[in-house]
Amino acid sequence: MKTDTAHTGLITTPREVLESVFGYTEFRHNQESIIQQLIGGKDAIVLMPTGGGKSLCYQVPALCFPGVTIVVSPLIALMKDQVDALVLSGVKAAYLNSTQSSGEQSFILKQLQRNELKLLYVAPERLVGGEISFLRFLQDCKVSLFAIDEAHCISQWGHDFRPEYRVLSQLKQQFPTVPVIALTATADALTKKDIIEQLQVTDYRVFENSFNRPNISYHIKPKKGYYEILVDYLKEHQDDSGIIYCLSRMATEKLAEDLRSDGFNAASYHAGLDKTTRDERQDLFLKDDIRIMVATIAFGMGINKSNVRFVVHADLPKNIEGYYQETGRAGRDGLPSEAILFYSAGDVMKLKGFAQVENNPEQTQILLKKLDQMVQLCETRGCRRKYLLAYFGEQAPDYCGNCDNCLNKPELQEQTVIAQKILSTVYRLNQSFGMRYVVDILKGSHGEKIREEHKKLSVYGIGKEAPKEAWLHYVKELLYYGYLQQSEGEYPVLQLTEKSNGVLFKGEKVFLSAPVQVTIAKEPVIYQQHDYEKPLFEDLKKLRNRIAHEENVPAYLIFSDSSLLDLATYLPVTRTDLPKISGFGAFKIERYGEAFLEKVQDYCIEHKISSRMELKQPTRTKRTPVNRERASDTKRISYEMYRSGRSVQEIAEERQLAATTVESHLSHYITTGELDVNDFVSSDKQELIEAAANQYGRLGLKQIKDQLPDHISYCDIRMTIAAMNGRDK
Ligand code: ADP
Ligand code: ZN
Repeated sequence: MKTDTAHTGLITTPREVLESVFGYTEFRHNQESIIQQLIGGKDAIVLMPTGGGKSLCYQVPALCFPGVTIVVSPLIALMKDQVDALVLSGVKAAYLNSTQSSGEQSFILKQLQRNELKLLYVAPERLVGGEISFLRFLQDCKVSLFAIDEAHCISQWGHDFRPEYRVLSQLKQQFPTVPVIALTATADALTKKDIIEQLQVTDYRVFENSFNRPNISYHIKPKKGYYEILVDYLKEHQDDSGIIYCLSRMATEKLAEDLRSDGFNAASYHAGLDKTTRDERQDLFLKDDIRIMVATIAFGMGINKSNVRFVVHADLPKNIEGYYQETGRAGRDGLPSEAILFYSAGDVMKLKGFAQVENNPEQTQILLKKLDQMVQLCETRGCRRKYLLAYFGEQAPDYCGNCDNCLNKPELQEQTVIAQKILSTVYRLNQSFGMRYVVDILKGSHGEKIREEHKKLSVYGIGKEAPKEAWLHYVKELLYYGYLQQSEGEYPVLQLTEKSNGVLFKGEKVFLSAPVQVTIAKEPVIYQQHDYEKPLFEDLKKLRNRIAHEENVPAYLIFSDSSLLDLATYLPVTRTDLPKISGFGAFKIERYGEAFLEKVQDYCIEHKISSRMELKQPTRTKRTPVNRERASDTKRISYEMYRSGRSVQEIAEERQLAATTVESHLSHYITTGELDVNDFVSSDKQELIEAAANQYGRLGLKQIKDQLPDHISYCDIRMTIAAMNGRDK
């Protein structure tokens, strides 16, 4: 037997392969320990969610071992995709499946015998079929590793049993020294046990990862009038591609047609179409030539497209497994993506009908229970992610911050002081004024409507620190919870209630929700350490598409969206910068580096900006886990706290940040126009600051400060300049 003992004779190190072939700087999750396990000649069972980075777990060791790695994969489409991607990175890889002519197949077998391949993907039927058994044939080749993709297919307990996979139980007998790695994104305890038994591994470790997909944002909305909402959403995501799932073939065709007549680049896909049409459409979708695929669940198995930005369910899925698998096709590249489901009671009734299995009450019972759990997901007011993860046996916090329920959560916080301020104002105004006037008094407005005698009230201006919208929100909350009431008539005035007396005179506590109203982001918020150049990002995508068309491969195989985002963020302008960009391995740099570099250089020259490579984290220094909030998150948190009525000082204390940091967060929203500079700086101060800034430039804060009277603070200056920048935009 000529098999190789795995742990000897490595031709290179995993780290070297990661960096120079794949162009990545860090291993993800437990990739590194999995790879070490294999390199040590032992076996690994890997459970990792879609997009987690399973492929690298065997591709990296494959390039370290001297022989070939045999990858068993049931999905022909995926196989081709993976091989194309590897070849684009300069790796000698091939696949064997029934779509190839016998000439092609024997050519590959020859290469295999001559040890010219690093990875060979084979379909399971190829393992069993053929004149001599394929495993026998492999005995005469130099096999260094077996990788079993979609390993749950080996188990009858899995939802996707493939009888051919059973042949794999002979692997360990025939190749006792070759390590085996089995990978899957879906396995319950029973399936996991079965995988281990079937493969007959003994010296193995199970590597489990959280199934959480933090970059997917979950949204469930009522289905009534959904088409308009969908159209608006698609308009806001003109450049993104996505999948819309419908229950029936007819529904996919109708919806695709409606969308086309509304000007969208959409096509339908279902099992009723002939194979050529299906393959053609799938191919166009992979190449970004079809942007929206309206499909039944027949579409998606084995779609490895990494830049699917949204998955919409126009109809209710039958169970959580299906929903999670389908939504999981979004955001494999790790960038923010959305899962949107339109939910209706009508769909539930329809699916209940489908769940009736004739003469099989037990099966019916199971299907109905699964449907019921799906309905519960739709109806829960708690965190959707928590529900999903709990379904798969994982614990998660109550709040994920990235699902509709968390984002719109009316989380009640103690707001007694705020309530007291409002109620006292109503009281001082003799319960004779409307909501807006009350808020004007709180804010200390100088408007002409404000009566002189009211300016002398102790409550005048006690609410300066929060914006008007926040006060209006809290007044409405007090109305909602019965601490205030409004009189009838055309000009309703605010009045106290029984309940408000408790707050005003007995010190009772009040709990109200914060004024946060987040809907689906207009543009996917790209959580990044630093801002990126959006026009350049779009240009780079165009360049990538052009190359993809020339080479006839899907665009995302050339570079993923996250690689392009890295370019548009750090702006490398010399060739030596390129290896530091994610996804730029040596081979790809050689082949495409120049073209992408040129685009970045042109952009920098045209916009008079310089490279930001110095901001890039040095290779291999792990990010500190202490402060997990990313830049755009952290700004927004300060902003939302401010909107909820807290002062800069309070935010700084609560978040343990310097006040100047909070100010700089807020100044960002002054520039964007979401906050009003007048809430921070009086107009006479602004005038002085603007004059100084115009004279000395906006960058030299110290110089400006030196020119101004002492009572003008750095904060005043920063905020005023932020407003000036906003006006110039
Ligand atoms: P899975 O098979 O688990 O669904 P993939 O292997 O397709 O996931 O990986 C998803 C994406 O993540 C791919 O674009 C892959 O290149 C990328 N990726 C994997 N590992 C890393 C890493 N260590 N650093 C950066 N990107 C990675
Ligand atoms: Zn949540």
